[in-house]
Amino acid sequence: MTVHLVGAGPGHPDLLTVRAATLLGEADVVVHDRLIDKRVLELAAPWAELIDVGKRPGSRANSQEVINQLLIDRGRRVDCVVRLKGGDPFLFGRGGEEALALQAAGIKVTEVPGITSAIAAPAAAGIPVTMRGTSSGVSVVTGRLEPGGPQEVNWRALANSGTTLVILMGAAIAGTLARRLMEAGMPAETPTAIVHAANTESQQIVRGPLRELGISPIHSPATIVVGDVAAFDVLSQPTHLLPKVSLDDSP
Ligand code: SAH
Repeated sequence: MTVHLVGAGPGHPDLLTVRAATLLGEADVVVHDRLIDKRVLELAAPWAELIDVGKRPGSRANSQEVINQLLIDRGRRVDCVVRLKGGDPFLFGRGGEEALALQAAGIKVTEVPGITSAIAAPAAAGIPVTMRGTSSGVSVVTGRLEPGGPQEVNWRALANSGTTLVILMGAAIAGTLARRLMEAGMPAETPTAIVHAANTESQQIVRGPLRELGISPIHSPATIVVGDVAAFDVLSQPTHLLPKVSLDDSP
């Protein structure tokens, strides 16, 4: 009778919250996205129903409307539903829409925050998104370009904000995003970093000035950092210490 919108964290199963792990063990139904590590799903009880609603290109079956209906249906029928999402459910996770749809249907909803890739992916590259004396703030935006659309990003304001810019869902068009920012007045030499598959064995980091962003192709999932902090690596951790996990993001 309750649907919990649960953040699964930024890749590695160790980065799950204790509350998320507890709820997974109690859930009758787990409705999850495509990129959730299978060791996280193994925390579900053996009798739990696991439903993969990961969106695949060209699939109409798993539209947001269908997912909302599925959550409402299971939320009416069983005690505990976990809706598991990568990172944090309320940061580009459609958690807000799902919560509203469930509430409108009279179903109780809770949210369990997850560690977001917006902070954890830069951190995996040794980049603190804010740093005293270097950056006094951070903006997290979508890289999906929707001119005139509901999520249109004000690149001009961001280019002149003097704070760190973290772009999610922008890897495929990184070069275009760099051009937008430079046209909006951001210096071409501004440091940038792209972190692909942070906290997995496929982790890859590419650094360079804004004018070179997007020259080396980086696949999704990847987080782009733009701003002076992107030049830092405050950890310089030997790569053999990175956790061994693979994360398949192929369509
Ligand atoms: N709710 C999620 C974000 C969903 S949008 C969160 O809080 O993390 C999906 C985007 O997140 C991807 O396009 C990519 O930009 C970023 N992302 C997810 N996993 C990532 C990872 N392991 N490494 C780098 N970026 C990641």
